[in-house]
Amino acid sequence: MRKCYEILNIIIMKLSKFLLFIAILVTTTGRTQVQNRIEIPDINGYKTLQCDFHIHTVFSDGLVWPTVRVDEAYRECLDAISITDHLEYRPHSKDIVASYNRSYEVAEPTAENEGIILIRGSEITRSMPPGHFNAIFLTDCDALVKDDWRASFAAAKRQNAFIFWNHPGWDAQQPDTTLWWKEHTEIYNNGWMNGIEVVNDDSYYPEAFQWALDKKLTILGNSDIHEPIQTIFDFNKGEHRPTTLVFAKERTAEAIRDALDNRRTVVFFKDFLIGEEQYLRPLFENSIEVTNIKKENNQVIVYFLNKTGLTFNLKKTAHDKNVVYFRDFEIKPHCRYSISIQFIGDNDGKVNFEVTNLLVKPGKGLECSYNLH
Ligand code: ZN
Repeated sequence: MRKCYEILNIIIMKLSKFLLFIAILVTTTGRTQVQNRIEIPDINGYKTLQCDFHIHTVFSDGLVWPTVRVDEAYRECLDAISITDHLEYRPHSKDIVASYNRSYEVAEPTAENEGIILIRGSEITRSMPPGHFNAIFLTDCDALVKDDWRASFAAAKRQNAFIFWNHPGWDAQQPDTTLWWKEHTEIYNNGWMNGIEVVNDDSYYPEAFQWALDKKLTILGNSDIHEPIQTIFDFNKGEHRPTTLVFAKERTAEAIRDALDNRRTVVFFKDFLIGEEQYLRPLFENSIEVTNIKKENNQVIVYFLNKTGLTFNLKKTAHDKNVVYFRDFEIKPHCRYSISIQFIGDNDGKVNFEVTNLLVKPGKGLECSYNLH
């Protein structure tokens, strides 16, 4: 009998411990999302915001619900997104019939909770010419539904939208070369083309990059994601979606619009940064912190650290013959390095190199030159 009580006591004790464990579990279990932040420095007195202005959901031909897009953006530490469902292509319309504003409205409370800036947008989806364009900073997506594409653009502009040409070199619409049609001149002259995608999904369009530089269009790079993001990008391997880096006065929708209107953007695509030198140079220089410089005899050793999640590929360019240093040098994210420079005879001369993955124009990296004496 006594043994029985003992066993009962043990069971009660174990049970109460188990119940306590469950109680703790219930009170402490919340929704956990691990963030994958890629550190990118602020530059020129502006905040560097990571943005994706081209995203689809089940409200057009995407495969996920709008709130999931916000969660994905949170997971990648994006600052702002625009859900840009197609106006003219809705393959899920048997199941989902709704206003073109719904994907924004459904996502908005989640964006608010997670601190993601959500910008209302739509994709004007036409055959070539003129092809596909995103209109963002809209107030009413439904007003853009028109038979004539010109009427859609005009309706977007009446809402003071920011409009950009999507995937201008998409081979489904431009099978041979990336062409600028006469309709694009018309759109451009009407003030209906404010920017252009230099990168879309896994494609980079050097022709579009050159047009952006020549015609003073805002440079954009976006994911155009249709599937769940983790089926395309493996964050464990350090992969990331293409984004538009926006240099904004503050972290608000208004400041993003101001930056887009003033062309303060760079595209972040794989290991590449694509944009104007005035932004790429400070992005490079603000990423690197020189911690020590040792000078002894004919040698200078520079110790430095890459504070960011960016990669830099340096390649030696023309230089004084008496200066001996690396031919190629890869600076990986968040790593420390030392570089030794030797001087033969004359202790003078510059270290010249190109950062080949920071493109200031098609096929041209950022030129750097430092005098270490
Ligand atoms: Zn699209």
